[in-house]
Amino acid sequence: MTPDEKKRIKKEIRDRERTQFIESMPFRANELRKVLKQLDRELSKAGCDHTLKKTLYIIRILSIDEDTAVIWLHDHGGYCDCEVLANIEGRFEDAMKVIK
Ligand SMILES: [Zn+2]
Repeated sequence: MTPDEKKRIKKEIRDRERTQFIESMPFRANELRKVLKQLDRELSKAGCDHTLKKTLYIIRILSIDEDTAVIWLHDHGGYCDCEVLANIEGRFEDAMKVIK
């Protein structure tokens, strides 16, 4: 395999993972972006209390189904508000590259 082929295959795998991540989301991209932005603001004010309280509050305001959202957040390492930011924001922004 030439280095170029290797590069192409790696990119294909990455893009497939990105697509799978986006397809698995129980939110629209702009909704998740709103959740993360608001959460970032809330956490910088109050810090994390090791629950999903702030995340769920925002999710409810946006009328997103809470149960589905929690399962998905857990699946992606978001067990509390700061973990949602730490584990999901980066992956989400990376996954969005496949759309751009
Ligand atoms: Zn936390």
